[in-house]
Amino acid sequence: MALSLRTEVITLKTKHPFVIARGGDDDTRVVWVRLRDADGVEGWGEADPSRYYGETADTVLAVLTQLEPHLPKDPFDLEAAEGRFAQLVPKNGAARAALSAALHDLVGKRLGQPVWRLWGLDPARAPRSSFTIGIDTPEKIRQKVLEASSYPILKIKLGTDRDEATLRAVRDATDKPLRVDANAGWTRERALQMLPVLKEYGVEFVEQPLPPDDLEGIAAVRRRGILPVVVDESCIVAGDIPRLAGAVDGINIKLAKCGSLREALRMIATARAHGMLVMVGCMIESSLGITAAAHFTPLVDAADLDGAALTANDPFVGATIDGGQIRLPTGPGLGVRPRSERGA
Ligand code: MG
Repeated sequence: MALSLRTEVITLKTKHPFVIARGGDDDTRVVWVRLRDADGVEGWGEADPSRYYGETADTVLAVLTQLEPHLPKDPFDLEAAEGRFAQLVPKNGAARAALSAALHDLVGKRLGQPVWRLWGLDPARAPRSSFTIGIDTPEKIRQKVLEASSYPILKIKLGTDRDEATLRAVRDATDKPLRVDANAGWTRERALQMLPVLKEYGVEFVEQPLPPDDLEGIAAVRRRGILPVVVDESCIVAGDIPRLAGAVDGINIKLAKCGSLREALRMIATARAHGMLVMVGCMIESSLGITAAAHFTPLVDAADLDGAALTANDPFVGATIDGGQIRLPTGPGLGVRPRSERGA
């Protein structure tokens, strides 16, 4: 009973142009993947490609065509299927993650259980999610902070020569806990200079201060002992974690990087074995992509799953962020449904 694959490109519009240290876009093209089995049960997943990691909606479509003949005959055959995909297209994490999510959704639907329940997790342990404030003018930043009033934690994008003004604008508008993400936008000198400033503004931790390969520099930032350091761009898969141990305090997992739900679980286990903090992040995604990652949040310390909240035309309903608290769906599989009847 072969699985049939259907794909559709969805253009997500963000409420504000979303800008980080290496630039930004108004629209984001993601790919909705549907795997249907012989009984007509459908598993859904979403590919959220990032140009930084070499993917676009078009490369995702090409890779999905390439992987289609390698879909498992039995959707429960997850380990072998994901292993095969990773061997064929090692770099295309977003495309592979969509298939992984769709297979997990299908398995959960066949069993009538949510994915978090198949993993034995307690949804009440899901952390609160931060809400991200992209790079902008101080005036716009103040406005975004006010719009984010329902979120208890903010993540501020830094990595420009206006970082102090950005932090000042945020702090003028709120006294909420802050996290910052430089997206590899600082030099060693600038990062060391910014540490006491971040501390002064009450920042909880700093994400990816330096380029991904500068582990020596990142370790030096951490050794100052001023703030915990979490890496995102430096950590793609579980195999990256042992060499990061001792250099950083934690890692940020994204399905679009690691390429599968099972790899995300391996990353969590590997990071824990090295005594590290675990965070989960996202790209600009609909609620379908966000929900796939939300299912393992009961295992993590911090979440930044605001991708769907940043969009203005989310076509799906799944995990929600209620006053910052991540709430997992209780329906079978990923528990995601269309917002309207359009995709039913
Ligand atoms: Mg990041």
